[in-house]
Amino acid sequence: MGIWKRYKQHIKNNFCLDQIPINDIYYWKTRLFANAIIYTLPLSLIAYIPGVYYSWRLGLYSLVLIDTLAVLLIFLIGFLPTLSLQLRKALFVFCVYFIAVTFVWLIGTSGPGLLYMLAASYFCILIFPNQYAFYPAFINLAICLLTAIIISMNILPWKESPTHNVSEWFAVCTNLIFLGFISSALIPRVFNSLDRALRMEQEMRIERDRQNLMLEKTLEDLKVKNQELEQFAFIASHDLQEPLRMITSFLGQIEKKYGDILDDKGRQYIYFASDGAKRMRQIILDLLEYSRIDQTQFKPEFVDIGLLMDEICILHSKTIEEKSASIHYQDLPVIHHYRAPLFQVLQNLISNALKYSHPDRKPDITVSAIWKDKAWVISVQDNGIGIEHAYFDKIFVLFERLHSKHEYGGTGMGLAIVKKVMDSLQERIWVESENGQGAIFHFTIEPIGSEV
Ligand code: ADP
Repeated sequence: MGIWKRYKQHIKNNFCLDQIPINDIYYWKTRLFANAIIYTLPLSLIAYIPGVYYSWRLGLYSLVLIDTLAVLLIFLIGFLPTLSLQLRKALFVFCVYFIAVTFVWLIGTSGPGLLYMLAASYFCILIFPNQYAFYPAFINLAICLLTAIIISMNILPWKESPTHNVSEWFAVCTNLIFLGFISSALIPRVFNSLDRALRMEQEMRIERDRQNLMLEKTLEDLKVKNQELEQFAFIASHDLQEPLRMITSFLGQIEKKYGDILDDKGRQYIYFASDGAKRMRQIILDLLEYSRIDQTQFKPEFVDIGLLMDEICILHSKTIEEKSASIHYQDLPVIHHYRAPLFQVLQNLISNALKYSHPDRKPDITVSAIWKDKAWVISVQDNGIGIEHAYFDKIFVLFERLHSKHEYGGTGMGLAIVKKVMDSLQERIWVESENGQGAIFHFTIEPIGSEV
């Protein structure tokens, strides 16, 4: 630390600034006082050196003594560690008044005495609490009256000067008295406004902290509720499987045993019931998958997206063959990430691209990847039926479907699962599409740790 910084720090430490709350106006007044001392000490030499030099040459040795005493006193105010803050302030104001009075009494109105008196009253208003603001104005009045008495007693050294009479003295000093009172009345108003602003700021900070706390609590509650809900979905879907298995198996038994004696209507009813049970099973399986999304159980590994696509194509080979679909993917990256969620997302998107194909054309699907802003953006493009702009957000919501089960089968959970996976990975997914013109789903994947 440089000398100047150390010097400033030393004086600030002596003034115990850190013990006053920063949002209190008194802190700022004391800080101003500390700075006044910090700058007065070196700058006082500007007045001290020529003052002492000329006083010495003019034989005004008492002025030399007073100047030296004043500088010494300011030095002690700044450096004496044991003084209380109030005493330092009082000594400082006393020091300036002392210089002012001796200048007035030794040199008269032509000297800087009255100027110092005004400065003393300003310092007093600025560094002491507002309730003492009028004290310096009355001190000025008292000093001026005392000086008038002394002038009338004819004992001042400037008795030969032209202003050496009481009425001329009053003509000069009333200006000082006037300025003193007007400053005492006006300057505290500025501090009062500042005080109000500081208090308001503090209240706002307290309110903001309170709201942040509430928000944190709400978030925590929400997390707990979410976990409870997922737990509920898991238990419900898990436990529903058993009775559903019974329904399906007994429906099968009825069909096998009594199929021959049932009429067409009866067989149709059994078909509807089995179909409903099948769809319900799919919903339950999807719900289970949805509630099990939790990335904490996975470990990152180097995932070759091309190999992942190979697996997905094998998984969907039947549909690909049936629909004569072509799936293109080349130069896909190897990403250090969790394998299972990446598979889940891609698998769902490819499954939809195959499912929502256009009746007039064979499905043509392209998977590509580009590196952008420290992440891979993987895109799955199809030439299917496309999606209207209005549904771009809706399709990611649980159970939201744009078609009836007769048009396209499904549970409305595929994209909700994808979205949940993406959210839990803190990645993004979005869609671009024109109705009837196919769709492109993009999602980002930021590699975990190193990139290959
Ligand atoms: P599901 O396919 O079971 O209905 P999803 O959540 O996978 O549920 O999809 C929600 C809706 O988004 C679908 O009903 C469908 O209308 C629309 N959709 C999804 N993928 C595509 C796609 N590739 N092309 C056109 N529409 C799509």
